[in-house]
Amino acid sequence: MSWPPAASSPPSRPVPSAAEIAANPANGLCDACVHQRLVPNTRGSVFSLCERSRTDPRFRRYPATPVLRCAGFEPRPAPEQRDPAG
Ligand code: SF4
Repeated sequence: MSWPPAASSPPSRPVPSAAEIAANPANGLCDACVHQRLVPNTRGSVFSLCERSRTDPRFRRYPATPVLRCAGFEPRPAPEQRDPAG
C-alpha cells in the first residue's frame, strides 16, 4: 500500500460554517478550504494535508493547525452548489 493514500478517495463530510470553525478549530481555515485533503493513518489519526503544497513552496504539506490566516484559502462550495458528478 502506498502512502499517503491516493487522492481519489477523500473522506466526505459537510463544509463547516464559520461558526463551527470558531467553535471547533481543529484545523482552522483548512477545514473549509477546497485545497485541504484529510489523510488518515493506521492509528486512527487524521492529518490535514494542503494540496497547494504540491505546486507552491509557500505552503507546507502539513501546516501547523489551527490555520487562522492563509493567503491560499479558497472556500469549498456549499454542498448544494457542488457538481453532482464529482
Ligand atoms: S491553502 Fe491554506 S487554508 Fe487551504 S488547505 Fe492549504 S494551508 Fe489550509
